[in-house]
Formats: sequence, structure tokens, C-alpha cells
Amino acid sequence: MTVPQSATKKASLLRERIRKHEHQYYVLDDPSVTDAEFDALMNELKALEAKHPGLASADSPTQRVGGAPREGFDTVRHRRPMLSLDNSFSDDDLRDFDRRVHELTGREKADYVVEHKFDGLSLSLLYENGALVRGVTRGDGTSGEDVTANVRTIRSIPLRVDAAILKKLRIPHDFEVRGEVIMTRQGFVILNQQQEELGGKRFANPRNAAAGAVRVLDPEITASRRLDFYAYQLFSAGRSPLKRNSEALAGLAALQFKVCPAWKRLDSINKVIQFCAAQGARRGDLPYEIDGIVIKVDETALQEELGYTSKAPRWAIAYKYPAQQATTLVRDIFVSVGRTGVLTPAALFEPVQISGVTVVKSTLHNLDEVERLGVQIGDTVLVERAGEVIPHVLKVVKEGRDRRPFVMPKNCPECGSKIHKAEGEVAYRCVNAACPAKRKEALLHFAGRHAMNIDGLGEKIVDQLVEKGMVSDPADLYALNLESLAALDRMAEKSAQNLIDEIDASRKLGLARLIYALGMRFVGERTGQLLAEHFGDLDKIAAASAEKLTEVGEVGPKVAAAVEEFFSEPANRKLIEKLRRGGVKFTADRTEQKDARFAGKSFVFTGSLARHSREEAAEHVKSHGGKVVSSVSKTTSYVVFGADPGSKLDKAKTLGVTLLDEAAFDKLLRSP
Ligand code: AMP
Ligand code: ZN
Repeated sequence: MTVPQSATKKASLLRERIRKHEHQYYVLDDPSVTDAEFDALMNELKALEAKHPGLASADSPTQRVGGAPREGFDTVRHRRPMLSLDNSFSDDDLRDFDRRVHELTGREKADYVVEHKFDGLSLSLLYENGALVRGVTRGDGTSGEDVTANVRTIRSIPLRVDAAILKKLRIPHDFEVRGEVIMTRQGFVILNQQQEELGGKRFANPRNAAAGAVRVLDPEITASRRLDFYAYQLFSAGRSPLKRNSEALAGLAALQFKVCPAWKRLDSINKVIQFCAAQGARRGDLPYEIDGIVIKVDETALQEELGYTSKAPRWAIAYKYPAQQATTLVRDIFVSVGRTGVLTPAALFEPVQISGVTVVKSTLHNLDEVERLGVQIGDTVLVERAGEVIPHVLKVVKEGRDRRPFVMPKNCPECGSKIHKAEGEVAYRCVNAACPAKRKEALLHFAGRHAMNIDGLGEKIVDQLVEKGMVSDPADLYALNLESLAALDRMAEKSAQNLIDEIDASRKLGLARLIYALGMRFVGERTGQLLAEHFGDLDKIAAASAEKLTEVGEVGPKVAAAVEEFFSEPANRKLIEKLRRGGVKFTADRTEQKDARFAGKSFVFTGSLARHSREEAAEHVKSHGGKVVSSVSKTTSYVVFGADPGSKLDKAKTLGVTLLDEAAFDKLLRSP
């Protein structure tokens, strides 16, 4: 397949720019373009590669996620074993290590490189000709699993490196990088939040989460997990190509790998000891968890002289921080209701000091965890505080004499509604959409752009409405009047009127949006549409059995059960009746296809139209068989522009796409 030279050149320019931005974003954490600009570059490259299949190349940034889920991993033998590290727990241990280094080599002076001991999963990455060809887990140290497809999705791993830099640093084009895959504390918190919302399993710590994400068979899952990779070792033909470990770290950074941001070369063991103490003190402030410091002899020649034991190198040692733990009494176990309605048990402790902080309580996450720990009220437990993250219970150390088991309440402590638990899920929930614990969140969701689209009902207004007792569920919005709204803080008469108008307009938006707005679990916009199209009426959906619900294409048993559960809750039934009285439309507009006049035609809208809402205009287009798309390309048939058009209009002009103002659009709609 021949590819025009201009396309090849364009692709290589785009790839270079994208690589640069990926490095700035994922490695340096200092992006120089917006996400939208980045996406635009990526889309441009994808389009170009789609048009010219001959451009395909495994190291293109578009190829990070590819490949279907696998059946299993192949086992690959490491070129040289991935060893473990000897541990040290005190300054004296470090001095002993230093003494051995001097004795064994007969040298007076040895420089050390110090780095964080990342608490993740170690990986070996093989590069051939400067391009990533394979990623292998440590496994048993001799051989590991080939996880290449997953590794490719990790953005801080370069898919290829700059040949000019390799040359300058005198690093051969075929090399191996070893390092650690980790998940940052923030990434970990977000992941567990997502898991909770989906009813999936919680991960105990970032290390397990990272290891799990690398060892799943579906690279899409790895890609969704925000993993990071820190490189710490460079080999070529089984040995270090550079004279010093410090050169390797600098070289890896130059090749755009992430390396430990705190690494240092130090010329005495006393400085190493100081470094370990200083890093230990600010361990909790680091964006990722570490369990110690790794100390390595800097000079390659010295390393080779020292060699290895069967388990670990003699030229390196890990300094492990003491665990931050204490034992205390569990005075009570109580539940709180989160914003998604999940009931979370937590332990209330006899206050205890752990590394300078008074700990009074800790979450127990869910009932499964309470059972796994076997913890009861009155027990003495071991509590750990890892860095600044919330403390957690590790285990029961002594059962209390008058211990009392925790029982999940049958009713919501906030609203008294019955608590539900879905089959196969760990979470217990209050599914009352009007539960005060979820009220604000539920209102914001209801008013959202893709739900009832009540522009102007933001957080500040919702807070006031709820706190003043004016609104306790979404249906109350339809009873608001101008005077009461105008009395709110920072609400001018004009904006109050606008809000009333917005609320009024939302009445007519139709079934699909209403379903989504109600915020049933697992029911997103798409499911809302499918249900609306299939049933046409909210009352029919409310009356449908789970079995009936699964007759809708794409609606599986999990979704069906959640919908049935929602409507089985009396509080939700009441909400529906209130919405009905509020004049909210419960039926779907079936977009009938009037004719196929616009078949094969695509429309892009920009700016605001005076006589149509975007939705209406889109409905018109669809009713004649046309398609509405969001971005302009050469294949766009029409760009319809209103007041204050965006950059789409300029783009349409440069591409020579037919432009329509609102009048011309109306005319086109009317013309047979
Ligand atoms: P251990 O598993 O406790 O024997 O420690 C050895 C492991 O520490 C190695 O296999 C690496 O996965 C990990 N490690 C974390 N950070 C570093 C680092 N900066 N240098 C070398 N190894 C590290
Ligand atoms: Zn409740």
C-alpha cells in the first residue's frame, strides 16, 4: 500500500508533537496544552492513520490500547534474574552495609545512589531499536508473565525513545529498563470511588490495585486505571552500559522515563542515613506510597566487584521504614450514608497516637470487610496509618470479653427507608432518591445538562434551597415560585425569572432524560434512551418486571434489577407522583422519520439558534434521516450557525463546508 509522502511526514510530525505532550503531561505533570487540544491532535493522527493503513506502526501514540482481551499470559524467562533486595531496619544496619562494601572492595570511598523504594509491581521492559517490544512482570524472579499489551497502555512508559539521545548517551538501541508500576494515592482513591459506585470490589491498597491492573487480561482495564511507571535500572546485553547508576538515572530521565524525583548521589553513609530520616518524615506528603529507601553503590565497576548472593545484589540494600501502627479498643461500629446512598460502617476507637497523630476512627468500608476482619465492638485491634491516608484496621489482636457483633441496620439512619442489597454486591444502600444524605447530589444530577438541563441550578443555589427547606426532592423544584427564589442570596430578580423559565422548560423534555435524571443505578443516558424508546411511558417502566425490562436490547439483568429496585421503593413512587403533579412529561416523543430527505447528510451546529433549541433542531434533522455530529470535518454536509458561533464556524470556512444561518436552515427544513 503506498502512502503519499505528505501523509507520512504529517503523521511523523503529529506523533512527535503528541509524544512531547504525553511526556509533559504524564511524566513531568506539567501539560502545555489543554486536554481538548491534545485530543484534537490525537484525533487528527487517528484519522490520518485510518485513511492510510500503510502508516500503521506499533509505536504510534494511537496504539496504546489495542488488542483484544487475552486468554492468558505467556511465561517469559528474564535475561537476567530479577532479584530481591536485602533489608535493613536501622542506622546500624546501614553502617554494616557500608562496612561490607568497603571490606569487600578494599575501597576507601564509595558513592551511593538513594531512591524511594516504590511499593508496586516490578517490571522489565525490553526495547529493540529504540521501540518497546515487551513488558514482563518479575514473576518468580527467573521468569515472569508477558504483559506487553497492558504495559503499552501506561502513559509514562515511552513506546519509543529518541535515537539521537541514545547515541549521545552511548546507550545501545537494544536495552532493558527495569522499574516499578505504581498507582498514586490519588489514583487509588478515585479507583475505589468508582468501584464503590459500580458495586465492584474495593482494593486494599495502591500496590494491590496496581498489581491487579497490570495482570488483568483486558488491556482496556489497565488503561482505565491511571498507572504510573518509575524506572530505576538500565541494562544492555545483560549489564549496565554506563559507568554509574547515577548516569543511568539521568539517562532514563533524558529518554523521558519517570525516575524517582527525590533521587540523589551521596558520598557517605552518614548522608544516606540523614536522607532516609528526612524522607521518612515527609513520607505521607509524597504522591505515592513508599515502604523505604533503596541504597545502591553508584559505580558500575564496584557493583560488579561486589556481585550477588543467590537472592540479592551485594551492592544494594533496602532501608525499610517502621510500620506506623498501634493497638486500640473499638468502642463502637456505626454506619454513615454516603452521597450515593451506600452505607459505610466505621469503627470508633479509644483515641490513640500513631506517629504523632490522634486517631479516633477509621472506615471499615463494608460488611464484607467487617466479616473478613472478624471485628466486633469491644475488640482490641491493630490500626495502621500509612502516610497521610486514612487509617485502617489491620486485624483483631484481642477479642473483647463482652464483644458485640455489628449489625447492618435494616433502615436508613438518615431517612428511615428500607435498606437494599443487590444480589452479588457487597454494598448496602438506601435507594430513596430523596434521602437527605443524597439530596444535594440528586438535585444536581437531576438538573444536569444531560438530564433535565436546568441551567442556573448550580451548587450554591442547591445548597440554599436544601438548607432553607425549600426543596427536599427534585419534584419540589416544580413548586418553586418567583418570590421565594428572588429571596435567595445573590439571586437577582432577572436570574430568578430565568431559573423559573428553565425549570418550566424542563417539564417537556421527555421520558429519556427524565429516566436518566432520576439517577437510578447503572442507568446512564443511553439506557434512558433505550428504555424510553421501548416503553414510551414512565408508568409502563415503573410497572415492568425485571424480566420484562431485559427485553430491551442492551439492558442486562444487573440494570433491570436496579430499575425494578428503584420503583419498588415507596419513597420513589411518591416522588414519581409528585413529579406528575408538577406537570413533568412522562412520555417519549417518538421521532418519526418523516422522510429520508437528509439521508447521508451530516449537520454540525454552532452558536445559539433563536427559534429552536439544539435538541429540537437535532430532532428535525433526524426526522428527515439526517445525522447530527459534534465536530466539523471535510465530510460534514452543513454547518448551521447561530449567535456567537464557536471555532467550528472558522473551521467550516477553511474546509469549505456549506454554511447555513438559522433562516437558511429553516428554509431547508421546509423545502420538500
Ligand atoms: P523486596 O521485594 O522487598 O525484596 O524488594 C525488592 C523489590 O523492590 C524489587 O524487586 C523492586 O520491585 C522494588 N523496588 C522498589 N523501588 C526500587 C528502587 N528504587 N530500586 C530497586 N528496586 C526497587
Ligand atoms: Zn436514606
